[in-house]
Amino acid sequence: MSIMPLSSPHLLESMLINFHCRQCRLVFDAEVGEITMPAEVHRPPFEHPIRCPHGGSRVMDQVWLTEVGQTQLTVALLPP
Ligand SMILES: [Zn+2]
Repeated sequence: MSIMPLSSPHLLESMLINFHCRQCRLVFDAEVGEITMPAEVHRPPFEHPIRCPHGGSRVMDQVWLTEVGQTQLTVALLPP
């Protein structure tokens, strides 16, 4: 598993965010598209659904953000 460099996240068309699927116990990078602000608690702020490579589409309740994912999200949402 490799970690994408996040040199200029605001220019990326699609972000990779690291998740942990609660059902498959799988950690994976999901392509979530554009991340919108503000992030609502019960709604994923992502353009694309989260797609677990093993189990398919997942909603936020079915995955955890890993520490890596939280960092990626924080960086993506930083003001330019
Ligand atoms: Zn899964």
